[in-house]
Amino acid sequence: MRPSMFRSLQSAVARSSSAHIARRGYSADSVPERKVAVLGAAGGIGQSLSLLMKLNPLVSKLALYDIAGTPGVAADVSHINTRSEVAGYMGDDQLAKALEGSDVVIIPAGVPRKPGMTRDDLFNINAGIVKSLCSAIAKYCPNALVTMISNPVNSTVPIAAEVFKKAGVYDEKRLFGVTTLDVVRAKTFYAGKANVNVAEVNVPVVGGHAGITILPLFSQATPKANLSDEDIRALTKRTQDGGTEVVEAKAGKGSATLSMAYAGAIFADACLKGLNGVPDVVECSYVQSNITELPFFASKVRIGKNGVEEVFGLGPLSEYEKEGLEALKPELRSSIEKGIQFANQS
Ligand code: NAD
Repeated sequence: MRPSMFRSLQSAVARSSSAHIARRGYSADSVPERKVAVLGAAGGIGQSLSLLMKLNPLVSKLALYDIAGTPGVAADVSHINTRSEVAGYMGDDQLAKALEGSDVVIIPAGVPRKPGMTRDDLFNINAGIVKSLCSAIAKYCPNALVTMISNPVNSTVPIAAEVFKKAGVYDEKRLFGVTTLDVVRAKTFYAGKANVNVAEVNVPVVGGHAGITILPLFSQATPKANLSDEDIRALTKRTQDGGTEVVEAKAGKGSATLSMAYAGAIFADACLKGLNGVPDVVECSYVQSNITELPFFASKVRIGKNGVEEVFGLGPLSEYEKEGLEALKPELRSSIEKGIQFANQS
């Protein structure tokens, strides 16, 4: 990326946050101190995400943790002349320091998919990683908002919830599965098909974060467009298979990293704005929910000073979306149960 592009990205991030800051009536000088920790910061997602969080003026301290490689990533990112102080932490014995005082913890630690693998195939490795990281979060920053990127999100979020419950610190308002990439994809694909300005597009995506559990609600997409049933089916399928499209194109070199870092940064920014009291911060996220019979479900949520302030219902669905909703429930339920069982067994 050319330096001018970095500068425009940095100022775009700064401008969007400044607008929210101004709406809250405090100046950029009085932005609250906020520490963000990235766990898995030296990975494909982690490095780009660390860069994007360094560009976010709402962050005052940025802790970059991984089991390897963080001194280099932290040294590199720390030279960028933005607000936050950056520190790198490596290995188990530095995890406590990385976490202490964190307001938001972002978890992209774990292995990514290779062609032919489903997100569920990652379960055994990533479930263990998430479990140990969440045990440390419970100990060192139990009040942080935890944003889970590690797959399979449909199971890793329930695992985190169980770990926090066992430690006596579970607050359902503070745990989020990051499904923002599904929203990002749905917006991009819809804008292309409907020939509308992508910057103005909104598409809620509900359910979970794997295959058919990803349910984009194109009937609620704005700006409205007259798309055929066939178009909607194709857009739905492409959104559900977006991750696989990238995994196959990368041909064994991992899964989505750049678009995921962007999505993770958008979601973390929403958490920071919510914590800072910016009103009406709404994003889709996979959270503890009672809008369906499933204990975890992705839908629009309002994020505020305590985390999730409101979980919104699904709104009116088309017949096609109603069918999709019923079809996803058994798979999502079994992924949730698998996570809960793992957390309680091992
Ligand atoms: P990667 O292999 O490039 O990076 C993962 C990083 O995690 C590595 O640096 C590794 O050292 C680190 N790590 C492993 N164990 C750790 C531990 N115990 N503590 C801290 N760090 C640890 O993988 P990636 O492409 O960055 O993907 C990371 C995860 O994100 C995968 O699980 C992937 O499936 C998931 N993902 C999620 C979404 C989503 O939409 N939620 C999208 C894409 C990828």
